[in-house]
Amino acid sequence: MPAEPPRRIFLTGFSFSGKSCVAPLVATTLGWRAVDLDDLIEEAAGKDIASIFAAEGEPGFRASESEALRRACEESEVVVATGGGVVVAKENRRLMAESGIVVCLEARPETIRRRLEQTDAESDSERPLLSGADPLARVCHLKALRQPLYALADFTVHSDDLTPELVAEEVVRAWRRFAECVSYDGSRLSSSMGGGAASVTPDVPVDEAGPVCIVQTQTADYAVYAGWGILDGLGEKLRHAYRRAGQAALSDAVYVITDSNVHRHYGGRIADALSGEGFAVHTHVVPAGEASKSLEEASELYDWLTLHRAERNQAVIAMGGGVVGDLAGFVAATYLRGMPLVQAPTSLLAMVDAAIGGKTAVNQREAKNLVGAFYQPLLVFADVATLQTLPERELTSGWAEVIKHALIMDAELLALLEDRVDALRALDPAATTGVVRRSMALKAQVVAEDEREVTGRRSILNYGHTIGHALEAATGYGTLLHGEAVALGMLAAAEIGRRMGLTSPELAERQKTLLERFGLARPLPAVTAEAVLSAIALDKKVSGKSVRWVLLQGVGNPVLRSDVPELLVREVVGGQLRR
Ligand code: NAD
Repeated sequence: MPAEPPRRIFLTGFSFSGKSCVAPLVATTLGWRAVDLDDLIEEAAGKDIASIFAAEGEPGFRASESEALRRACEESEVVVATGGGVVVAKENRRLMAESGIVVCLEARPETIRRRLEQTDAESDSERPLLSGADPLARVCHLKALRQPLYALADFTVHSDDLTPELVAEEVVRAWRRFAECVSYDGSRLSSSMGGGAASVTPDVPVDEAGPVCIVQTQTADYAVYAGWGILDGLGEKLRHAYRRAGQAALSDAVYVITDSNVHRHYGGRIADALSGEGFAVHTHVVPAGEASKSLEEASELYDWLTLHRAERNQAVIAMGGGVVGDLAGFVAATYLRGMPLVQAPTSLLAMVDAAIGGKTAVNQREAKNLVGAFYQPLLVFADVATLQTLPERELTSGWAEVIKHALIMDAELLALLEDRVDALRALDPAATTGVVRRSMALKAQVVAEDEREVTGRRSILNYGHTIGHALEAATGYGTLLHGEAVALGMLAAAEIGRRMGLTSPELAERQKTLLERFGLARPLPAVTAEAVLSAIALDKKVSGKSVRWVLLQGVGNPVLRSDVPELLVREVVGGQLRR
């Protein structure tokens, strides 16, 4: 029997996502009372928020905030507009999850900055934290840190393009749906809480049971899970993803697509994890290796799905590295015009890169990834412990993408990588899981901002890839692994950036040292500068796009440039890379 929905609603979300404005509208609809946590804090302290920050600093403010939340929970039939940082304290999250339902109002950083600029019209307790020379950068940074915690809400409503009235309607709808969707077996409370085992960021501890983040694109929202040894929970998370997507009554067959290596190690456990949740599991094993990313293999998979009478609402589970993810993703995108897709990456490269973002493809003789589709998954689920069986060279290659994410977006992650090289290369569970989660969140952030590579934001992920792709092609695919080629490409990009006066010599050196420490300074295979330049030109011709180089002006500060002289590329490829 559906339970009675609780009679308290907590609105969470980053500052200026609209909580204070929406809470009274929701309260009016339900005939309840709206409470603004900032008002309660100011009332109790007898001074305004800025004065509390000035006198007691952030810790003093947070203590008052927790106290105000406790008082708000003493009332029933209330809609509580919380502050942007309320989710950071674990006891606050517990209190909210125990006392009511939690709805997160989400807004993009640009929307938040716009609203922040109109602060005369609106006040917010966190304004002191957002002041400074570059508020957008501050918003992006703080929001990224907290995003895993906002993702623990029962529901999320995007407020960017909606009027406050429409946002309020969505909140009320979420509250009404709550009783139908939520199981009262305690799993909701524990997953709303997060915990404390692994650290996504140095200052926001999050339990591996909670999602790394919710990837929010224009076409889909989906959760990304990553933890050490969580494989047996795949079935449960799939059920949860179905519920989240409002698809509770799905048929129970699932189609696992994997490769021969991954199947040997994990085939049995995956089948058990899914059948334990009542799914009927069908498995198709493709040969390991890039050659499986073909239309011929896709066609075999279509035949297999037809044989089993696969239906449109049954999930395809891509369990493997990037090859399986791209192939199974392409099949899921196209068979019956689209089946739900679970990306369950098992290589480091697939975890931090390929599985997130919805790019699926197969290769043609003329070029890699020529035929494909943007198709976002229903769920991304990574057991980081599966990296223990990944061949050493593949693992090393995967670190290149993690290092790339740090260089283009996250100075703290870069420092963490430098600090923990040995632990990471030895796959220390806590260190590796924390870094993988953080790297996944970075990829998710870029994808959310530019799902289809329209604004140029997603292009920053191509740092090191212009020469990296060209090296892969010029040396014959398979000679260099993708990450090895990207590492060489990053070395070349830093040298080009240095000669163009963009990248400091210190940063170029810092990058080189880190790549070397991760075992990514392989000697360049025998290849001429001419062959690399031809491959760049061919790539440009096939993609129909001009070459846009990603160069680094600083850590976390990539720039796109189309004016890199060919002569400079020739010199760098011919000279610098050979040293
Ligand atoms: P891969 O899928 O070939 O995996 C590498 C090797 O490791 C394979 O032999 C595989 O069988 C094995 N393996 C994977 N996980 C294992 C595990 N846990 N234990 C033991 N063996 C394991 O290659 P990859 O590096 O994962 O991915 C490369 C592919 O990803 C390329 O085709 C590339 O084009 C694609 N890619 C796609 C995107 C995207 O956005 N879709 C991004 C980057 C790369």
